[in-house]
Amino acid sequence: MTAAGRAILDPATGQALAHVPDTTGPGVADAVERAAAAFHDGWADTSPAHRSGRLRALADLLREDRDALAGLERRNAGKPVARAAGEVAFAAQVVDWFAAAARYPMGETHPAGPGMRTYTDRVPVGVCAAITPNNYPLLLAVWKIAAALAYGNTVVVKPAPETPLSTRRLVERAAEVLPEGVLTAVHGGAATGRLLCDHPAVAMVSFTGSTAAGREVARRCADGLKPISLELGGKNPVVVFRDADLDEAARAVVTGFTGNTGQVCVAATRLIVDRAVHAEFVGRVADLAAALRVGPPQDPATDLGPLISRAAVDRAAAAVDEAETHGAKVIVPPGRTGLRHDLGGGFFADPVVLDGTPPGCRAWREELFAPVLSVAAFDTDDEALALAHDTAYGLSASVWTSDAHRAERFARALRAGMVWVNTWGETEESVSVSGMGRSGYGRELGLHAVEGYTRPRAVWVAHRVRG
Ligand code: NAD
Repeated sequence: MTAAGRAILDPATGQALAHVPDTTGPGVADAVERAAAAFHDGWADTSPAHRSGRLRALADLLREDRDALAGLERRNAGKPVARAAGEVAFAAQVVDWFAAAARYPMGETHPAGPGMRTYTDRVPVGVCAAITPNNYPLLLAVWKIAAALAYGNTVVVKPAPETPLSTRRLVERAAEVLPEGVLTAVHGGAATGRLLCDHPAVAMVSFTGSTAAGREVARRCADGLKPISLELGGKNPVVVFRDADLDEAARAVVTGFTGNTGQVCVAATRLIVDRAVHAEFVGRVADLAAALRVGPPQDPATDLGPLISRAAVDRAAAAVDEAETHGAKVIVPPGRTGLRHDLGGGFFADPVVLDGTPPGCRAWREELFAPVLSVAAFDTDDEALALAHDTAYGLSASVWTSDAHRAERFARALRAGMVWVNTWGETEESVSVSGMGRSGYGRELGLHAVEGYTRPRAVWVAHRVRG
């Protein structure tokens, strides 16, 4: 940090793009108090139709501002141009969806005796703290903001310290369509996040990030008995049987471990492949991965932009070295030497396939958040399932087979919040997202989001005439 604030880097060059000061304790308190005032002074009591209208205006604003927001995602998060534009478009769609969801019926009426009406409705929670990670800075902030606002909450959002620029712009622009205090931003790293978790006027914390940080958020929020939503990391298996469409499966695996340069919570990082097709399938995957282009995000031909930081490259490279030392065969694109990819001072990485990664290695056990795929072969269905479950995480899983019984068996048995059968990575705003085990709890998107951003309240109304 300098006097001007924290240096915000362009990961494609390693150069500072901007300086953003960390919000101090009094600054966080001010943001939370403004959010609390906006909640109590009106937003919570606005009609769903009103909130829906404001959210539609916010979606329009996202579309109108797409180029600027996508430009920030490209420069600050290293996203290739098409990907950055696609994420802003998806964010606008999510806001549209919650603009509609704000008006869906909710609650239940209960059978009651004569003279009594009993119902359970849902009330907003209050001030929600939205703490977001660096891999989808705008999109994941919008998932939280749209749902929270739809149901009558106000929000203080804290983007990741590496990637605050798109969220900062979103919040500035949102002031054109939302009342004062309904959406504010604070900046900084874990220290600012802790201030939010601890503030007594924060009623709920919606957190997306690593499991280690999520654990601390859970501990802090336990003190205040605050509800939390935790969307955490993953070490996600893709199981490929010999009877699968191997071409399609290979394309999905490569998208799955290299998309967003591997910085995806649901990234397909563990390939569990039928021994009968092991060599052939790994060959296809390696060929497809070798054809991908690592390069500057502004180049339309780029498939993989940089990782978020030099530390991220170092961490992943060390895990690749460890796997190799313990016997994994390292497959990298022809002419390359390993994960590190030198280009203009940026934090670039080549895709790496580790065939036969020993299960004790970090590349098998830990989320590397880099384009690294660990491969293991299996002989039986039970062995495939055991390998898939050889992780404490439970975010996503995918299985590829043309056998309907096997597909059904795996769809039911795989322990993960999202299971894809003969496909990978499908996500849309109407389907909720969540994890199991060390991948967290709580649900984002879809109608399940209402459970996190509202509280049920039972109401008993006696209307008998008392004599
Ligand atoms: P991170 O855990 O380092 O940081 C996430 C956010 O938490 C940041 O805003 C950070 O400043 C804040 N933070 C860190 N420590 C905190 C603390 N003790 N108290 C409060 N706030 C704290 O994660 P990252 O590197 O920015 O993002 C990558 C991680 O996010 C990966 O583990 C990835 O799997 C996960 N992720 C999960 C999902 C999902 O839906 N499950 C989606 C995207 C990313």
